[in-house]
Amino acid sequence: MKILVSAAEVAPYAKVGGLADMTAALPKAWSAAGHDVIVLLPLYGTIDTALYGLRKTDHVIGVPFGGWTEYASLWEGTLPDSEVPVYFLDSHEYYGRQGIYGYHEGFQDNDRRFMFLCRATFEVAKALGFKPDVIHAHDYHTAMCMPMLHVHYKTDPHFDGTAGVFTIHNMAYQGMFDPQRVLEFGEFGMKEFYPGSWFEHESVVNAMKAGILFADKVTTVSPTYAQEIRWTPEGMGLQGALQARGGDLIGVLNGIDRTEWDPSTDEYLTVPYDLATIEKKEINKQALLTEFGIDVSDKSRDLPLVGMVTRLTEQKGISLLHEALEPFIASGQMRLVMLGSGEKRFEDFFRHLAEQYPQRVLLGVGYNNALSHRIQGASDFYLMPSKFEPCGLTQMYALTYGAIPIVRATGGLADTVQQYDPITFTGNGIRFNRYTVDDCSAAIGEALRLYKREPHWSHLRRNAMSVDHSAVRSAEQYIDVFTWAQELHAQH
Ligand code: ADP
Repeated sequence: MKILVSAAEVAPYAKVGGLADMTAALPKAWSAAGHDVIVLLPLYGTIDTALYGLRKTDHVIGVPFGGWTEYASLWEGTLPDSEVPVYFLDSHEYYGRQGIYGYHEGFQDNDRRFMFLCRATFEVAKALGFKPDVIHAHDYHTAMCMPMLHVHYKTDPHFDGTAGVFTIHNMAYQGMFDPQRVLEFGEFGMKEFYPGSWFEHESVVNAMKAGILFADKVTTVSPTYAQEIRWTPEGMGLQGALQARGGDLIGVLNGIDRTEWDPSTDEYLTVPYDLATIEKKEINKQALLTEFGIDVSDKSRDLPLVGMVTRLTEQKGISLLHEALEPFIASGQMRLVMLGSGEKRFEDFFRHLAEQYPQRVLLGVGYNNALSHRIQGASDFYLMPSKFEPCGLTQMYALTYGAIPIVRATGGLADTVQQYDPITFTGNGIRFNRYTVDDCSAAIGEALRLYKREPHWSHLRRNAMSVDHSAVRSAEQYIDVFTWAQELHAQH
């Protein structure tokens, strides 16, 4: 199958969250399975072209945009550890600046930047002579590819038989735009904008809604989240649009890129290990403690180490931690290693905690891929008390690295972490249901009581590490979805 992926984030070039991991892992898995796949993303000013060996092509892409034509050049490279061609859309005006989205409110012209990426997706495909069976768009940034396919390229022979699949990674970011700008850039016209139209939601253009309604098939990143967004406030106002798509909305659980996340081959670890040599995890733990200047000669070096690697936003449940976590640290029952960046109030909370308990809180502020690997390799537990979680990748990394997850049972966390049962020895982690301090703290307490307590500790780690969460499985399911999308498309 010929697959064109268009996205705002692709690891390792441009990554803010799990979206980037998936737009790299899926194409690699498809390519390894014999599919013909190309990936398109913007050439952001933050991408180091020399570091990744990217080359400028001779292509100059003319992009119809708002009644005129704009031009961009095209760079190319190959996804690391694969043969997947990646193309980078080079428009200095739109992308030649520091940052992917801009801080907090985002760049003022994000509507224009991402509409341009969407429209260019089709023109790049034509310039390359790549006739896709499916265009796979991700989140609000490339959602508008779906109406463009339907409206502008429906009769273009190059896209004859091309189906559109839209994947929702997070309903919290919908792309709400000024209709007069966006519908003009996209050449749809204001006549498409009226209450209840496919572009309109709450008096503005909603890119996510358009993606949902115009796509041949819609997917989201876990089966539980697929239900939650349809029937609960997690749909963030778009429940109606999602319900309208009924059986065309499918939850495909994300997976992890085993070429990058495998404790037996991970070059960032002090010592690689697997289930058979799990005792070596201890060496990684001691190395991390030393790296953070913790006194490892002290008998407290054996304290359970609880890891977190996360964007610091309300979504991730950080608000619960002040009351739920601090007592365990204060009373010397655990150590925390936290790597994150995001909202200042949360960064301040962790900074304060680290100042108060310098021997028990290891803090990394900012983005650090190597450290995120070492934290998974070193941690005994992994904490993820999310308010909502479309899928979550880090708990799957934790499971793979034998760090026992403590999670709130929502979205993909509910699909990947099963409660440990000390009677049957089944389950791979500790879960709590209600988003409350009491439930979160009970779960942390329960987890800490299981630390090194046999036979439970060995069962927990074995159950965690013996499941393969590889993205290869997800990639296979997407191929089914693409096939269904093509069948549906052919009927229209
Ligand atoms: P989300 O997409 O909501 O941020 P996921 O768990 O799906 O959550 O994916 C987060 C990805 O970003 C993981 O690969 C995680 O390791 C990475 N990550 C998050 N914060 C950091 C950080 N500060 N440094 C390095 N990697 C990070």
